[in-house]
Amino acid sequence: MRSQKSYTNTTFTKRVDHEGGEHREARAGHNAVCKTCGAVFENKHWISGMRARALHIAPPKETVECPACKQVAAGTYGGEVIIDGKFYAEHHDEIDSLLRNEELRAREDNPISRIMSWNAKKGLDTLDIETTTDHLAQRLGHVLKKAYSGELQYNFSHENKVVRVSWHRD
Ligand SMILES: [Zn+2]
Repeated sequence: MRSQKSYTNTTFTKRVDHEGGEHREARAGHNAVCKTCGAVFENKHWISGMRARALHIAPPKETVECPACKQVAAGTYGGEVIIDGKFYAEHHDEIDSLLRNEELRAREDNPISRIMSWNAKKGLDTLDIETTTDHLAQRLGHVLKKAYSGELQYNFSHENKVVRVSWHRD
């Protein structure tokens, strides 16, 4: 009988790696506000500045830089979405706004989830997006598949740190 001891839950390992360090720092402190984007660290969670105002949470006095703003400054992305094919070339306005709207929704849930870079290539046949979290990359791939069908692939890079989501439709 094969031992079941050596299972590797790559998703679990990756999340511990990715979020452990960043959150440990914030957890050690008190409630704080990100000096760059206004996200609020409250009760051990990051919430958007807008949501904090809606919940009537007083802005914390302590300022920090949130994990997402640190990532943007350092250029270290957590996920990548590559979109290509004739369908994108022909419907880029529609697809771009679908992705932007999904990012806004994701960011309302978790302000640490955001698009870091947006590169259209080859005369708009290809779009390459970098996201702060692998979760957002997967979410954007999912919304494309749901809206337009096409071919969706997930790939993990070395050490399972970064997910590349590829979506293609001709
Ligand atoms: Zn921030």
